[in-house]
Amino acid sequence: MCHALLQDPQFFRLLLRIDEQLADEARAVGCACGGVLHRAHYPRKPRACPIEVRADFASRRSFCCNRCRRRTTSMSVCFLGRRVYLGLAVVLMSARHAGQNPAAAQLSQTLEIPLRTLERWRHGWREQFPLTPLWQATGARFMPPVATEQCPASLLERFAGTAEEMLTRLLVFLSPLTGKAINLREGQ
Ligand SMILES: [Zn+2]
Repeated sequence: MCHALLQDPQFFRLLLRIDEQLADEARAVGCACGGVLHRAHYPRKPRACPIEVRADFASRRSFCCNRCRRRTTSMSVCFLGRRVYLGLAVVLMSARHAGQNPAAAQLSQTLEIPLRTLERWRHGWREQFPLTPLWQATGARFMPPVATEQCPASLLERFAGTAEEMLTRLLVFLSPLTGKAINLREGQ
């Protein structure tokens, strides 16, 4: 159903606007030392990104303090930690069985995501996601409990609304995950 969103530039632009908001908020809060944050965005080469919006996804919003030089990287609904594939692909392509379903296999080919990478993502969701500080802190709030062995599909269905709204809400929920907090290995 919602896999068409993986190739919908409009939806990617919506996610970018949310990231801009999150970045503005982080910048407004400033550094813990009281210093002022300046733009110091990381360059990215996003994979599984529609060509129409690729230039907009070529940097990850981040800031550097003018006093202590520490970095602040705002939360993101576009990038899931340090993975080169965009969060939307990591979520949606993990939620289906690309190895068994011809349409899904076709889509992973179009997006240039090797099946091996999909397998690693699924393994990461099952084995590592339940151990993240985010899930440790929030998992118990879902009633009835989420079947973590079926994440992210089982988690996605807990968010209400249209396909766009469900996905956006899930990505916002996941946005505190940093490269360190969750380690869904990338594959080559
Ligand atoms: Zn500082």
